[in-house]
Amino acid sequence: MSSRSNKSLICISCPIGCHLTVEYDKDNLREENIKISGNKCSRGITYGREEVLAPKRTVTATVSIASEIQRRLPVKTTKHIDKVLIFELLDNLYSLKVKPPVNIGERLIENFKGTGVDVVATMKLDR
Ligand code: SF4
Repeated sequence: MSSRSNKSLICISCPIGCHLTVEYDKDNLREENIKISGNKCSRGITYGREEVLAPKRTVTATVSIASEIQRRLPVKTTKHIDKVLIFELLDNLYSLKVKPPVNIGERLIENFKGTGVDVVATMKLDR
């Protein structure tokens, strides 16, 4: 008996937002067994495969700061990170207390859990 499944997704890799259909075999999850349709470019194939094998997201959040003029500092990951690590990353971010000055792009967390993903400030803060 076949265990083929279908998933409908919207590709979030660019603003076009192609409607993808991803066909895969739940009992034999391998890249070569995943078929993607509806994509206008190869990034849709990468995105569709990732969503089935190991979904990833860019994380945006705010962290606490010791500042006279601002209470929270917006931050984001430099790359997509595995969805299974997002809550752990957020725990780390919510326990951070950053001291100004902070520049845009300054790394607040480097290579989170060996993933190669950093977290950077998205706002400059002088004091
Ligand atoms: S498949 Fe290509 S064109 Fe379509 S949304 Fe994804 S990145 Fe954009």
